[in-house]
Formats: sequence, structure tokens, C-alpha cells
Amino acid sequence: MAQILDGKALSNKIIENIREKTLLLDKKPGLGVILVGENPASKVYVKNKEKQALNAGFNSAVYKLPENTSKDDLLKLIDELNNDEGTNGILLQLPLPKHLNPYDFLDKINPKKDVDGFHPVNAGKLMLNEKPYAVPCTPKGIITLLDEYNIKLEGANAVIIGRSNIVGKPLSMLLLNRNATVTVVHSKTKNLSEITKNADILISATGRADMVTGNMVKKGAVVIDVGIIRDENGKLRGDVDFDSVKEIAGFITPVPGGVGPMTIAALIQNTYELSLKE
Ligand code: NAD
Repeated sequence: MAQILDGKALSNKIIENIREKTLLLDKKPGLGVILVGENPASKVYVKNKEKQALNAGFNSAVYKLPENTSKDDLLKLIDELNNDEGTNGILLQLPLPKHLNPYDFLDKINPKKDVDGFHPVNAGKLMLNEKPYAVPCTPKGIITLLDEYNIKLEGANAVIIGRSNIVGKPLSMLLLNRNATVTVVHSKTKNLSEITKNADILISATGRADMVTGNMVKKGAVVIDVGIIRDENGKLRGDVDFDSVKEIAGFITPVPGGVGPMTIAALIQNTYELSLKE
């Protein structure tokens, strides 16, 4: 049976370590999270982020704006936070309400405060392998987890299912920068399982419950489940059919307790690091 990659335990360790380092700083790092509207999943994520920022000893502020917020009002808040000395990291929680296009705002956040690493400057720096101010949290958390368990990236066949700007694409760059051989597959890919069966490291980020089954996985592979889906009974599920895949894989992340907490740990690391760069 596969060994569990324990994201929860590693996340706690990372946050505790940052808490200890934060105690030695003259000025607490400050995280500002902007939440527009009433998306229930976003509210839960924002609450968790705030809780862990406080656990790390940071100042944390959540700016809640109503669903019908105008483009100008959101731009104004971003501008204020860009100019606020106490705010080191600015996070615009996605998705935004339908009338707002995230790309009208993500490039207005000062790249040096862009704690999610979504600004085009940081995306470009990641692509060039030229020290972004911050790297997107979910991909960064995944690499940290793989490193913790000494999983070799160099030369590994890594297959990523999903090509989103927040997970698949930046993760492909991080893995490429670490000399993995990277394949990105998506909803239009043909013969998906022929490709996934070659993966030494298989990462799924689709949001389709249980779509990765044991017969799609190579024996001994490392399987990382990014998906978070709440089923009809309110239970959290992942992209990976845990029961069939755990019999084939060498390592596997659980849902919950895998990539989710590592994403938050990466956010805490990014906020801390941005506060040192000021
Ligand atoms: P997205 O909807 O932007 O992208 C989904 C991707 O999956 C697309 O590129 C699409 O082509 C691909 N896809 C969809 N169906 C497919 C199929 N049948 N076969 C192959 N590819 C398919 O999603 P996202 O924002 O990247 O998020 C993906 C999942 O990860 C969601 O469940 C989300 O909630 C979760 N997520 C979790 C964390 C975390 O911290 N654990 C962070 C971000 C996203």
C-alpha cells in the first residue's frame, strides 16, 4: 500500500517554524486578503488563511467587499493596500463575481506584494526561472511536500492533469526548472490513461471527483491530488479514487490533509519572505 504524503503535518511544522522566526522580527509581516462576494468555498478558504496567518504571528486583515462591488472600488482598495506599509502580501481571493475579470486586478497588485504570484511579472519570472517575488502557493506547496519526502524530480516523468493558471501551468514551470520531464494533459487530451501510466509523478488538478483510478497509474508512482470537491453529503473528495490508487501507487496525498494545508503553508512562507524583501 502507498505511503501517505502528510501535508497537514508538514504544514504545521512549516508554520511553527515561521512563527518562531517571526518572533525575532522587529515588525510583524502583514497579510491583506480581499474577499469579494459570498462564495461559500472562498469564505472557508479565507477563514483558514487568516487563522494560519495569525498562528504564524502575522498581522492579518480580511477586506470583505459586497457581491456588487464596482471595478473602481476594487481597484481603489488594491491601490490603498499597495501603499500601506503594514501590508506585505496582498491576496485577491478568486473566483471573483462574474461581472469582474480577475485579470483587470491581478496586474494592479504591486508584484513585490503579490503573495499569490499571479502578477504577469511574477508569472514571467517563473517562466524564465528568474526568482519571482512569490511563486503560486499550491504549486509551491506541492514541490515542498515532494522535497520533504526526498522524491527525486530530476529526470522524473511528471504528468500534470489540468492546465489552469493557478495550478497546472505554474507547476509545470516549477517541475521543468527542477529538471523533470513534464507533460501537461487536459480536457481535450486523447488517450489520457496511456500518458498517465508513464508518470513517475502524477499530479491531478481537475476538480472531477475520483477521475484518476488505479488502472491509470504506474506501479510505485507518486500521486498528488489537488482536487477539492464537496460531494452531495458535504464530504470532501479529491480527483483521485483513493481506494484503487493506494494499492498501486508508491506515495499518495490524502484529501483532506494533503495539498490543501501545503497551499496555506506556502502562503505563510510567501508572506514572510515578502516582508523580509521590503
Ligand atoms: P480549473 O477548472 O481552472 O481547471 C481544471 C483543469 O482540468 C482544466 O485545465 C481542464 O482542461 C482539466 N480537466 C477538466 N476535466 C478533465 C478531464 N476529464 N480530463 C483531463 N483534464 C480535465 O481548476 P483549478 O482552479 O486548477 O482547480 C482544480 C481543482 O483543484 C479544483 O477541485 C480546485 O478546487 C482544486 N484546488 C485545490 C487547491 C488546494 O489548495 N488544494 C488549490 C487550487 C485548486
